[in-house]
Amino acid sequence: MKFTQMTAATLLVLALVGCSSEQPNPAADPSSTTEAKTAQKEQSRVESVKAEINRLADGFDYDGAIKLAKNDDNAELQKMVSGLEDEKSQMTAWPKPDQIPHLFFHSLVIDTDRAFDSDAQAQGYKDYMVTHKEFSKILDSLYDRGYVLVNPRDFARPNKKGEMEYRKIMLPKDKKPLVLSVDDVSYYEYMDGDGFASRLVVDRDGKVRNEYTDASGKKHVGAYDVSTMVDDFIDEHPDFSYRDARGILAMTGYNGEFGYRTSESQYPKNKHIKQDQQAATKVADALKDEGWVFASHSWGHISTGTEDMGRFKRDMKLWKKEVEPIVGKTDQFVYPFGSDIARVNYYSGAKYNYLKDQGFKYFYGVDGTTHAWMQQTDDYQRQMRINVDGLQFAKEKDGDRPVLSEFFDADKVIDPAR
Ligand SMILES: [Zn+2]
Repeated sequence: MKFTQMTAATLLVLALVGCSSEQPNPAADPSSTTEAKTAQKEQSRVESVKAEINRLADGFDYDGAIKLAKNDDNAELQKMVSGLEDEKSQMTAWPKPDQIPHLFFHSLVIDTDRAFDSDAQAQGYKDYMVTHKEFSKILDSLYDRGYVLVNPRDFARPNKKGEMEYRKIMLPKDKKPLVLSVDDVSYYEYMDGDGFASRLVVDRDGKVRNEYTDASGKKHVGAYDVSTMVDDFIDEHPDFSYRDARGILAMTGYNGEFGYRTSESQYPKNKHIKQDQQAATKVADALKDEGWVFASHSWGHISTGTEDMGRFKRDMKLWKKEVEPIVGKTDQFVYPFGSDIARVNYYSGAKYNYLKDQGFKYFYGVDGTTHAWMQQTDDYQRQMRINVDGLQFAKEKDGDRPVLSEFFDADKVIDPAR
């Protein structure tokens, strides 16, 4: 058979099955054409299921991976089960379920020239923010030191009776859990033009990205803040995330969400408010799909610990009216300014009862002096967070209260642009 005599369909089949032209013409038998196509289709299905099984196993979700392999009719995938069972048996429960550290960040400084200039905000940025370069080094160090991101429900969750309980986190012996959160992901108005990302957007592949405008006015789309950098890092290092965990995003309402001015009480003149609300909701949905968890951070960033009940309730109503429709219902509460409603004693009283009535079960304060502090009752889970920012870097350098050295070497991380 001469090459030129082949039809386009034959060529396609030859290409698919990898035959040489010496073999009998498979197009002569229509059933073998169909068979080749079916085999090809099956092989590509198997490859994609295999990739998903590997992704789940890399993220320590062995039960999910095993289920997928076991329930598949394909023999090659079923053969993966024993290897996965073996890997699963190597995992051990994190021995200190009530000692899991929690680091928190604010939006990252991208352009240090514009952030650390001499305007009124510069000192605040130095004190409360870290730079893009610093965060990148911190991620590398956390990963090198064996930290794995976990979500609140991985370490504590109500049982069937509704009582909060610590949960086993199953990791290899050299790995340890860590909670990460990002506060105020609103791209506040005051940050405009100071060298930060301007908002979050969802790209064509459904991936959340930042928009960032550089000093020359050129717009960029990419990873220019914590959540997007963490997502990219986990794409490259799936074992930095426990069962698809990312972190907690603590949201206020007064400047809207993710850079969209969605607050109806604050922006009554925003003609695009409905579109902005839709765009912000799309971002929130995509973030939730990626594994991020939302928390209330109060609507007006109020000092929750000291405000009177009237203001406290008014603020909560605004959060429920303006923020909840975008980010969804949540049982997580991150105190603004770390302004907790109690010291180390257990929660009680009117403010706690109100928060409980509003559905909150997980509470996060700030304590930059201790490695990990948690408190649990049947009703709630409480955890202190360590601020990672310029103030903490300064304390670390003084050798006063070195808490960050567990996670990274501050000397190697600190941006010379500070
Ligand atoms: Zn805040």
